[in-house]
Amino acid sequence: MKEALYPGRYWHLLHDGRMQCDLCPRNCRLHAGQRGACFVRQRIDDQMILTAYGRSSGFCIDPIEKKPLNHFYPGSSVLSFGTAGCNLACKFCQNWDISKSREMDKLAAAATPDAIANAATAYGCKSVAFTYNDPVIFAEYAMDVADACHARGIKTVAVTAGYIGEEARRDFYAKMDAANVDLKAFTDDFYFNLTGARLQPVLETLKYLKHETGVWLEITTLLIPGRNDSKDEIRAESRWIAKELGNDVPLHFTAFHPDYKMTDVPPTPPSTLARARKIALAEGLQYVYTGNVHDIDGATTYCPTCHAPLIVRDWHEIESCRLTQEGTCPDCHASIAGRFEQFSGQFGRRRIPIRIGG
Ligand code: SF4
Repeated sequence: MKEALYPGRYWHLLHDGRMQCDLCPRNCRLHAGQRGACFVRQRIDDQMILTAYGRSSGFCIDPIEKKPLNHFYPGSSVLSFGTAGCNLACKFCQNWDISKSREMDKLAAAATPDAIANAATAYGCKSVAFTYNDPVIFAEYAMDVADACHARGIKTVAVTAGYIGEEARRDFYAKMDAANVDLKAFTDDFYFNLTGARLQPVLETLKYLKHETGVWLEITTLLIPGRNDSKDEIRAESRWIAKELGNDVPLHFTAFHPDYKMTDVPPTPPSTLARARKIALAEGLQYVYTGNVHDIDGATTYCPTCHAPLIVRDWHEIESCRLTQEGTCPDCHASIAGRFEQFSGQFGRRRIPIRIGG
């Protein structure tokens, strides 16, 4: 399939003639013809081209709990898609066939922003999610899709590592209603050695989202045995979240499975996730979840005041929901942080691939 030539933003020319991409903190410096580390942005003459604009690796309808977002219209369905490439280089990537793709023919589905928003409406989705690979690298496409969605009353969700430059961050998150940001670890060593990125810019994005936007924020940490799952690191991360973001930001600890360049590391035992959750709760975080395992306790939303179970889940499925439509506990009337409406059934643990465009 021929690549689209859509002009990308967020770059400037350097004195030595190279073009610096300012979209993410990697700041790739490109000679004519070169592609950035994310692969989908390419310098062609004196233009930055977003080669993935309008082209997706496929569309699926998922439960919102799968993003994971547990406090953003629970039970609703979300139309999810991504493109190819990624601006991180995680050795443990759990989606590497998409994110590491160097073949533009992986981008099978071509779809305009209007076509995507229309499909979300037709399928009754509450939101559209930019996910599977990191939407930062296809920011212009995601922002145009977001505009089309908002024009139809559809919400937008970014599932991202939060590795984005300052100017793009402002533009991008002005178009998002919710974000799940991967905080991949709480040491810069981990970021540097296992992801090709740095920790500090991700922390800056988290603070920006929480304090300077109205974007609903949840955080995910994939726990990898022996790499980022020590008690000290989890305690430090939880403390930082409580202090810098507030104790009402939901935190998800999810299970790693051996993949990509990390097939020598065993899967995360459920006991590690449960222990991490206990530590984070002890540090004062109010909503801490375990993911990618069957753990009803770890998937349930409890009232932070009277501790009543309010949304009982098993994996991505809601077993019962007692939350009021205002998002309060029916027993003690405490407010639960999040975006809620009347719960009227759920999409459930399905995943429905759909076709949009040609
Ligand atoms: S978005 Fe891509 S091209 Fe731009 S700096 Fe990041 S990795 Fe490099």
